[in-house]
Amino acid sequence: MVSEDIHSKEGIFRLLSSICDPEIPVVSIEEMGMLRDVIFHEHSCEVIITPTYTGCPAMGIIEDDIIALLKQHGVQEPKVTLVYSPAWTTDWMTETTKQKLRDFGIAAPMHSSCSSWIKPANAHVHCPRCNSKNTKVVSQFGSTACKALYSCNDCKEPFDYFKCH
Ligand SMILES: [Zn+2]
Repeated sequence: MVSEDIHSKEGIFRLLSSICDPEIPVVSIEEMGMLRDVIFHEHSCEVIITPTYTGCPAMGIIEDDIIALLKQHGVQEPKVTLVYSPAWTTDWMTETTKQKLRDFGIAAPMHSSCSSWIKPANAHVHCPRCNSKNTKVVSQFGSTACKALYSCNDCKEPFDYFKCH
């Protein structure tokens, strides 16, 4: 087991970078930009995360994973605090992360801010396989509540569009 410095924000971030959103196993919560801050209290450590999707059922799993991992590494009384403001935006993801999502078959949201959310139906959602703009919504609810199911008119492949609320 790697021993990270559990007394620094960088150490905690490195530790938590092994945790993935169960819905998107290819990118970590750190790569998604969900890890915002770590606050050290006298006897505990508080991790601040911003969910990509408010009310996403995966959040409970992520919180449990964070607490279990911190405890494993000797952090006393770890705590997870969800912060919804400022709202998560795809700007917090690097281009590499967005590419990983595309490789996984998920079209990352192309708007920069959740507050100016455009309906996927009115936006050009690019097919992650052939990059065609000629796509259509099949269902607003894809494999999970966080995704909409799209289909590409060119390569005929269905794909998930990662929604942001
Ligand atoms: Zn396509």
